[in-house]
Amino acid sequence: MNVLLVEDDDAIAEPLVKGLERQGYVVHRESTGLGAVAAFHSHSSVDIILLDLGLPDIDGYEVCRRVRADSMVPIIILTARGDEIDRVLGLELGADDYMVKPFGFRELIARMNAVTRRSNASGTIKDDITKLTGEVILDNRTRKVTVHDKDIQLTRKEFDLLALLASDAGATQTRETILEQVWDAHWYGPTKTLDVHVASLRKKLGDPTIIETVRGVGFRLRSNTEDDSAS
Ligand code: CA
Repeated sequence: MNVLLVEDDDAIAEPLVKGLERQGYVVHRESTGLGAVAAFHSHSSVDIILLDLGLPDIDGYEVCRRVRADSMVPIIILTARGDEIDRVLGLELGADDYMVKPFGFRELIARMNAVTRRSNASGTIKDDITKLTGEVILDNRTRKVTVHDKDIQLTRKEFDLLALLASDAGATQTRETILEQVWDAHWYGPTKTLDVHVASLRKKLGDPTIIETVRGVGFRLRSNTEDDSAS
């Protein structure tokens, strides 16, 4: 699991990085808010963000807002400020959980497990591994997609969209269903977002025909004649 740790205080960050690495996490640390946003956008495989609020440039709230503009990656806010206003604001901006410093390492791991489990459970797919074509494999458990055995970096929404289509290959998913399931049950924004994600997926998968447009209705995954999905 890839962790983006955003913390400017070395005395907190360094032992945390060591501890997480010892637990098998891959940790990328940033000590500024802008650095964190840039790192997040260039590493779309980030599985969770641990976010300090007091940062030298833009604060953790702003980082949260910018990340949430296009991603539902789990975010746990780490802060020394324990008052209720911070708590509400952090959660309103879309953070998944909140820890007040100093916190115990075990508790942090438990919370990290809880928020990632929760976010994975919101998916709709039961099978772990789906073979989309001979070369494209989607793994729901690790949320990774490989093409010719190489990891493809998808954003959270791109993955969720592909996983939804893969849950019933060949079946058309209407635009409404996709927006409801992948974005939000109450999505009233421009549906162009969906087309942008489909275009990006086609490009990343290296095969524009994998996702077929059903004009005026929605999208479907090109059906795979040889469906040997395994779990
Ligand atoms: Ca700080």
